[in-house]
Amino acid sequence: MITATPTTRYQNPLESTWQQHFVEAITDPAELLRALDLGSEWLAPAEAAAKLFPLRVPRSFVARMRCGDPFDPLLRQVLPLGEELFEAEGFGSDPISESGYQQAPGLLRKYSSRALLITTGACAVHCRYCFRRDFPYEDQQGETGRWREAIASVTADPSIEELILSGGDPLSLSNARLNALTNSFKGVPHLRSLRLHTRNAIVLPSRIDAGALDWICSLPWRVTIVLHVNHAQELQSDALEALARLSTTGALLLNQSVLLRGVNDDAATLSALSRTLHMHGVLPYYLHLLDRVSGSAHFEVSESRGLEIVEALTSTLPGYLVPKLVREVPGATSKTAIVARG
Ligand SMILES: *Cc1c(COP(=O)(O)O)cnc(C)c1O
Ligand code: SF4
Repeated sequence: MITATPTTRYQNPLESTWQQHFVEAITDPAELLRALDLGSEWLAPAEAAAKLFPLRVPRSFVARMRCGDPFDPLLRQVLPLGEELFEAEGFGSDPISESGYQQAPGLLRKYSSRALLITTGACAVHCRYCFRRDFPYEDQQGETGRWREAIASVTADPSIEELILSGGDPLSLSNARLNALTNSFKGVPHLRSLRLHTRNAIVLPSRIDAGALDWICSLPWRVTIVLHVNHAQELQSDALEALARLSTTGALLLNQSVLLRGVNDDAATLSALSRTLHMHGVLPYYLHLLDRVSGSAHFEVSESRGLEIVEALTSTLPGYLVPKLVREVPGATSKTAIVARG
């Protein structure tokens, strides 16, 4: 018999503060409800829905929620609800047909000139509407060995000018692993820009540590960081400090949001979001209509309502603060812009 020893994971102290914050996230629905002074009537449905997609929310994000308000727009994004258990027509597990677009394991190639690398399945937060909630990450996850094919594929394909690090959240990887990953692309002559899609920077601001800033500054490409913020209330205290640190890197900072019923589906909310982003050096990029993943039907906002909201934004904000309303359409050669007909 082999005597079990604690795994190396437990023998090694965590590398840094952010990793500590990552593992200390709230994952127990009862604890989340207690932290926010919410009634026990939310508990049974939360526990049932969390069995399908676990609850996970960093404490920094919880600190930005209002106590005692079950409809808080930040809480809504992370609290498992009974509604998730309903099956809805047209909602499934691969709503945007990603499985057909793998150029190499973990490398999605849908659009010309850019390729998206699924660096890890892990995120600091679990967003209930996530279109990747049912994604078969175990088949994809690039352990260093498994990134090899993706790296070879990008290297051999001169049509790829931009590499997008996505996930999950690439900032769930350690700085050392990020460095190792981007080092393997440094000699690729056709690569001109590198993009990072991250929500960890906002929900887990300690992730933007000195090592992460050094890593971003060391990259030899034009760097674009696309954040994911859905509501201005997310942009408080330590999250604003993280944005200020990111700004020092000179990376282009953009934001994408998902249009979510009960979270940000009105013009005043999205206008406040655009203005707050702008004040902190970030421009809105996309406003996504929901991808129809199982369990998310209660978040859906119709196309016509989306258009109404964007028209209201257009009539009150400078053009550069109006995000582009888009939807992911399987087989399309880009995100599909939603525009008024006629
Ligand atoms: C959204 C997405 C991109 C990036 O599209 P942009 O319009 O350049 O932001 C690239 N690859 C995949 C697979 C995507 O889903
Ligand atoms: S951070 Fe992004 S990938 Fe992660 S759960 Fe939220 S929406 Fe999904």
